[in-house]
Amino acid sequence: MNNKIYIVEDETDILELLRLVLAQAGYNTEGFTGAKAMLNRLDEQIPDLIILDLMLPDLDGMEACRIIKNRPAWETIPIIMLTARTDVEDRVKGLEYGADDYITKPFASSELVARVKAVLRRRGWETSKNVLTITPDFKIDFNKFEVYIRDKKIDLTLTEFKILQLLTQRPGWVYSRNQILDYLWGNDKIVIERTVDVHIRNLREKLDDFAWMIKNIRGMGYKFSLYEEDSGQ
Ligand code: CA
Repeated sequence: MNNKIYIVEDETDILELLRLVLAQAGYNTEGFTGAKAMLNRLDEQIPDLIILDLMLPDLDGMEACRIIKNRPAWETIPIIMLTARTDVEDRVKGLEYGADDYITKPFASSELVARVKAVLRRRGWETSKNVLTITPDFKIDFNKFEVYIRDKKIDLTLTEFKILQLLTQRPGWVYSRNQILDYLWGNDKIVIERTVDVHIRNLREKLDDFAWMIKNIRGMGYKFSLYEEDSGQ
């Protein structure tokens, strides 16, 4: 399957050039002349890479980058910033906001393709490393914050996902409610321990047939178990 790349650039001749070069390199592209249209499109389909111009009329590229990197469902999409500026400060800022690389205009076609290839290769490696297969019917993708049960994506909240992430790090290990709260909110926690029970109840409900894997150890806390007959309730 061809990699899908979204390209955001308000100068249409540059946009067309980018699309042409990447199409010739075998990529499937979609072009946008503004960041907002691209963000709307992300709700429908997530691409393998976004090439994002810094200076855009509707929304600053840096701001668009920040929005993408702050949303769990989107944050792992690699971003290459495109900038006409040679200002080092902008590049540093872009990388701080989570951009994976940047290209300065004007660019050589070969450089563009090489950067795209490098970023996609890096992503492929990270993705395969971060999928946990508990059973062939129960998989967790830590990169995409997604859980699959029998190849169907389960809709978890970020809190539910993080609890699952913590518990599956060390199967069999019991985490107290307080430890779970620490993991979720650190020093900012203002919630009571019972909140954990509510999140766990919702999480279990969504895990359906695999709900038993999250066990409550009376008076202690919760653990993730691979054995049905394991102690717990
Ligand atoms: Ca521009």
